[in-house]
Amino acid sequence: MRWSRYFLYTLRDNPSDAEVVSHQLLARAGMIDKLAAGIYTYLPLGWRSLEKLARIVREEMNAAGSVELAMPCVQPAELWQESGRWQFYGKELLRIKDRHDREFCFGPTHEEVITDAVRRRVTSYRQLPANLYQIQTKFRDEIRPRFGLMRGREFVMKDAYSFHTSAASLDETYRAMERAYRRVFDRCKLSYTAVEADTGNIGGSESHEFMVLAATGEDAVVACECGYGANAEKATTAPIAPPPPWPGAAPAVPEQVHTPGATSVPDVAAFLHLDPSHFIKTMIVETDAEFAVALVRGDDEVNEIKLKNVLGATHLQLAAEAKVEQVTGGGMGFSGPVGLVGVRVVADPEVMRMAVAAAGANRADYHVVGVVPGRDFTPAIVADIRVARAGDPCPRCGGPLVVKRGIEVGHIFKLGTKYSAKMACNFLDEAGAVQPMIMGCYGLGVGRTVAAAVEQNHDDAGIVWPRPLAPFEVELIALNPDVPAVREAAERLYADLEAAGCEVFYDDRDERPGVKFNDADLIGFPVRVVVGKKGVEQGQAELSLRRDRVKTPVALADAVAKVRELLAGL
Ligand code: ATP
Ligand code: MG
Repeated sequence: MRWSRYFLYTLRDNPSDAEVVSHQLLARAGMIDKLAAGIYTYLPLGWRSLEKLARIVREEMNAAGSVELAMPCVQPAELWQESGRWQFYGKELLRIKDRHDREFCFGPTHEEVITDAVRRRVTSYRQLPANLYQIQTKFRDEIRPRFGLMRGREFVMKDAYSFHTSAASLDETYRAMERAYRRVFDRCKLSYTAVEADTGNIGGSESHEFMVLAATGEDAVVACECGYGANAEKATTAPIAPPPPWPGAAPAVPEQVHTPGATSVPDVAAFLHLDPSHFIKTMIVETDAEFAVALVRGDDEVNEIKLKNVLGATHLQLAAEAKVEQVTGGGMGFSGPVGLVGVRVVADPEVMRMAVAAAGANRADYHVVGVVPGRDFTPAIVADIRVARAGDPCPRCGGPLVVKRGIEVGHIFKLGTKYSAKMACNFLDEAGAVQPMIMGCYGLGVGRTVAAAVEQNHDDAGIVWPRPLAPFEVELIALNPDVPAVREAAERLYADLEAAGCEVFYDDRDERPGVKFNDADLIGFPVRVVVGKKGVEQGQAELSLRRDRVKTPVALADAVAKVRELLAGL
């Protein structure tokens, strides 16, 4: 491809809203163009990268036995009403009406559509398992679209769905999908990790997220050298170190102490000369069904996802101040577990391991010390609801956990019968009994993965494409193309490289060398060939890799072979 005939316009400056490097570089390299918040045009170069990834994804999905189809973007509301999600999906679902006032949405995901397609065709165990995928445009009206392709509103996703007669069959496909995802990210030369992810309150299922590690990642990943990895919503730990000894003798029975104005754990701890870990932090929450109370140690935080799952709730929020008073009889900041009645109390196991503790007294300006969990209060539920911290002991090996940042590029999920049961997607088993199909779903963000590749592969001058995702593999630069000998040599090299099957991008513009070099660095094709006046006089071109930019002269006659050799090593 010749630049002069292409559609490529690089930018000198970062777009003002580009906070992360992948957004800045993809925009400046002329690969994406913002149309509206979270809505981008993939310019020709950007589209080539997306298509390269899409090809890799297709190859691996096909090899793993998934079958490609394409579903519509616009979906009728009726299907979403059947699954119950029309009500629960919230504002991320872009709802639209047609001219007859019928309701539709622009699909953020396709469980309903695929389940409908399968239930109208598959009736017998003999037709299962089935595994179908598509690569398609989604729309989610994200509350905070940002970071370019990383969190768009309109974005390209590969989504696959599988249908089974048994948990064992689902597991087999789930493992095959996990392996396919690993091959995709390996082939893209990304550094990633697969971590255990939350499955919500669907029950008994399994889920993994594929995280590309990058400082700008929106997600926290908890990991251990032994191979344990989970996202922050899911991560558990072995028992943590107990609090330091209680200073002096703790009261034998709970004793109220006046703590005027001190409401936060650190404030009360300082006031009472205790350690924050001596406290029981008490949080009053409101779910779709009830008020509930969560207890964690004073130096811990409540993990709201874990708490929501434990309570079996769909929604959960902190109770408003007036409600706190109603539930506890005391004000915000003075809640504690002793004497609470009429609400479910969930205590983290670390709370139950405390020998003696301090807590709010459910009375304004008072706390209570000398509280013994299990003696002075008995929670309805004891379950892990704390946020795992760096340094906590690994649940598998006891070693110290580390917390890293990651970009979620893929998510695989055992859905079970969540959709099939609601939508009557059934089959007849061998005994002739009607059963709901057991389902799995497997998502991979195509645009987000390309952005993640840039986050992991760049330097101060621009993108350093891993070869498999580079829009073109070779950049050919003609310096002084106005000199006939240079133009001639470059044209010949261009033709020869194309004939040899190289994806070559030929900068034939009438621009200064500095401009061409800067653009080449910014766009970041892996191999560069430079033809200039001096070199041509000596029958030479100059080769370099974008990765290290070390220049090597090569005879013009050997250039094609040398380029192919360099590409083979990438
Ligand atoms: P997130 O927690 O980042 O919002 P999600 O859990 O909503 O992701 P899924 O519904 O599992 O994501 O979608 C599958 C994949 O689609 C994700 O792993 C991610 O790679 C991609 N994806 C999701 N939302 C977006 C978005 N707004 N922009 C770009 N890619 C996205
Ligand atoms: Mg999301």
